[in-house]
Amino acid sequence: MSKDLYVIAEQRDGEIAKVTMELLGEATKLAAELDEKVIGVLMGDKIKDKAQEMIEAGADKVVVVEDPMLAEYVTEPYTKALTKLIKEYDPNIVLFGATAIGRDLAPRVAARIHTGLTADCTHLDIDMEKYFEFLKATSTADTESIEKRLGMDDKTLKMTRPAFGGNVMATIRCADHRPQMATVRPGVMKKIDPQPGKKGEVEELKVEFGPEDMNVKIKEVVRDTKKAVDITEAKVLVSGGRGIGSADYYKELQKVADLLGGEISSSRANVDAGWIEKSRQVGQTGKTVRPELYMACGISGAIQHIAGMESSECVIAINKNDTAAIFDVADLGIVGDVKVIIPKLIEALEKYKAENN
Ligand SMILES: Cc1cc2nc3c(=O)[nH]c(=O)nc-3n(C[C@H](O)[C@H](O)[C@H](O)COP(=O)(O)OP(=O)(O)OC[C@H]3O[C@@H](n4cnc5c(N)ncnc54)[C@H](O)[C@@H]3O)c2cc1C
Repeated sequence: MSKDLYVIAEQRDGEIAKVTMELLGEATKLAAELDEKVIGVLMGDKIKDKAQEMIEAGADKVVVVEDPMLAEYVTEPYTKALTKLIKEYDPNIVLFGATAIGRDLAPRVAARIHTGLTADCTHLDIDMEKYFEFLKATSTADTESIEKRLGMDDKTLKMTRPAFGGNVMATIRCADHRPQMATVRPGVMKKIDPQPGKKGEVEELKVEFGPEDMNVKIKEVVRDTKKAVDITEAKVLVSGGRGIGSADYYKELQKVADLLGGEISSSRANVDAGWIEKSRQVGQTGKTVRPELYMACGISGAIQHIAGMESSECVIAINKNDTAAIFDVADLGIVGDVKVIIPKLIEALEKYKAENN
């Protein structure tokens, strides 16, 4: 019977991606509801010593596939290794990051296994409805016999993702095939606090590769040395919307961000207007962020924007329209003109800094 939640690790040069840690965190939550285990999958060359990191981030066990053929990500050998692993272990759920690698690997594996894949999920949940209905209707307290009498679709994974150009959120279930597979957007799920020294099993799976498995020749690996700002890593984001009036006003928001040790970000309106680069866009078609503080300045709070920032720990919104939707998700709302409030804020922060340094 299909069992357990498998998280496919993404690694480059032996460094495990943040999204893998987020998926392990989410998987521990889902596994508790299913009463199943979290299994990490680590593929690469000389990578085994990284298994402990996955255990400390939530995995109960890690399956390692090591081979020089897996040193760099290449579609064919990775697909072969993972397909074999899934056929042997028969997982219930398999999760990937919705990254360039995850988006390449997951559909190929799903096609070979003949199962479904929900791509680019922003929410995962276990459907317990049928299970609870059954429990209500039955008098037995013997959970093992309950499990046996329930079908395999009674505790399915509900995978939610934006659909139809982001105009609806679709919840998709894969009721008839296993494993249930999803790619999940980076930055959406929460990693758990690492548990140093946590014990877990590490198992090796051998996959035989031949020259026919490598249809790509890597001649050179060129690292991108350009230091792009990653707004998903920022603790504080000072975000500007159309209400800031011009591209130039980001300079003022940058001052606030510098004073708070953060970065500037944006709504899509300003990216479309060419006021700021796309990599700083927050929202459904931009990045999903969850900083400690998100300051929305002159942002109306369209659903597509809120989808990317509503998990922020604290939201402060400045908007001159007191009915703006952004106030519905704000912890602190300031009704007023950005151009009046921001200079006052800069002044107050500079004063505070001067007095406390
Ligand atoms: C498929 C799809 C995907 C999308 N993806 C995204 C996405 O990823 N991210 C995103 O942000 N949007 C996205 N959008 C666009 C989204 O629907 C909104 O159009 C956009 O978020 C609006 O940006 P805004 O809030 O900056 O501008 P507006 O909606 O124009 O709001 C400007 C706000 O500023 C206020 N304001 C004006 N002047 C001042 C002032 N001087 N002081 C204070 N407040 C002032 C106004 O009251 C208003 O509330 C998407 C849309 C679609 C259809």
